[in-house]
Amino acid sequence: TEIAPSLLPRPRRLLLLLNPFGGRGLALQWCQTHVLPMITEADISFNLIQTERPNHARELVKGINLAEWDGIVAISGDGLLYEVLNGLMERHDWEEAIKMPVGILPSGSGNALAGAINCNAGLEQVLGLELLLNCTLLLCHAAVAPLDLVAITMASGARCFSCLSVAWGFVSDVDIESEKYRHMGAARFTLGTLVRLASMHTYRGRLSYLPATDATAHRPISRSITVAPNGHLPLQRLPLHRALSDMGLCEERHAFRGAEPAPVPCPSPGSPPPSSASVLPPPSFSFEPGPGELLAGGAGEARVGGPPDELLVPLGQPVPGSWMTVEDNFVLVLAIYQSHLGADLFTAPFARFDDGLIHLCFIKAGISRAALIRLFLAMEKGSHFEQECPHLVHVPVRAFRLEPLTRKGILTVDGERVEYGPIQGQVHQGLARLITG
Ligand code: ADP
Ligand code: MG
Repeated sequence: TEIAPSLLPRPRRLLLLLNPFGGRGLALQWCQTHVLPMITEADISFNLIQTERPNHARELVKGINLAEWDGIVAISGDGLLYEVLNGLMERHDWEEAIKMPVGILPSGSGNALAGAINCNAGLEQVLGLELLLNCTLLLCHAAVAPLDLVAITMASGARCFSCLSVAWGFVSDVDIESEKYRHMGAARFTLGTLVRLASMHTYRGRLSYLPATDATAHRPISRSITVAPNGHLPLQRLPLHRALSDMGLCEERHAFRGAEPAPVPCPSPGSPPPSSASVLPPPSFSFEPGPGELLAGGAGEARVGGPPDELLVPLGQPVPGSWMTVEDNFVLVLAIYQSHLGADLFTAPFARFDDGLIHLCFIKAGISRAALIRLFLAMEKGSHFEQECPHLVHVPVRAFRLEPLTRKGILTVDGERVEYGPIQGQVHQGLARLITG
């Protein structure tokens, strides 16, 4: 008897979008030598398209016939997946389109989502090619999970959809300034962090949020981690720790003999960011976007469809009465919705892909450099909240608004620079679908 062809399982068809300039520019080479052989072996059929410019992936995704694909995979850093998700949301049929499973094969320098996928699967935290191999294997397993998206609105009226984070202060400064070390791959963030630690800025701002009162506390994701014989994590393997120890900074008794360094002074409202206290000269980099530098979600962008943000009021109006507001000086403000801020930064261990939560984390001014280093070192294994640092605050929220009061600074959405000014967002639980393996 003959079986109708439509009843036979057909191979999965994946649209692979590759950014040849992501990270150290190894994406194409790694794809050819490792990714394609593995997915061919898994009986997946694919089209591979190399992006030719920023926003190419976004435009492609807006025009494809959804019925032809079982998934769209970004072979890149987080930036290309951001384009894919926003391309899907900009379609007239966004409600259907955003159900298209999306995946990531990490070959950029910012690989936060891949870090979260790897961790969610219970795999040891790894970087580079090892992370790519893990994620390719998981991609072959094909399991799909709902993914929260956060609708972000800016003062210009631009709206975009974010799957990772909104960052201001220390984190966005490092992300954007370290672009110039792009050739170093993920190590660019290590170097960027060191440079920033040396010239810690504070920023004044007003942060408002709608607390998620019914949020249940989650235990950190259980992971199999290689533990050294003394019961501690093999910290020397972690790049930031290694770099700091090379500089004699990882043991505080070496770095700051006895006395803690002076706390960073708080600026008065509206004043420009001060260069930090006494120890080191002010930074030599500028915060202005370079000529022709692209801003994600800029004013010129088409306003996208998508679900209404029923929790938000327009940026010009005061936040609803049920919201909380803190006005303070911050070292950083980070709204993060996935467990990882980078492949080796386990920043929000309690976050789940579809917990419907924005994890608002901020560090208030007054923290010492030593304590900030301690937090970032601990973040590599996700134990920074155990330090009970009084300057570090975490609040699970459904929506937030950030109004920078310091005139200059950098804001990023999913690691991409956006216009600097008031910004707000609300979570849309499980709106997208992520290939998690
Ligand atoms: P990385 O993690 O190294 O930054 P991403 O995948 O995030 O890698 O890509 C960084 C940026 O490169 C994204 O904003 C994306 O829009 C842009 N981009 C994509 N394709 C190209 C290309 N062919 N040339 C230049 N930039 C590109
Ligand atoms: Mg989440």
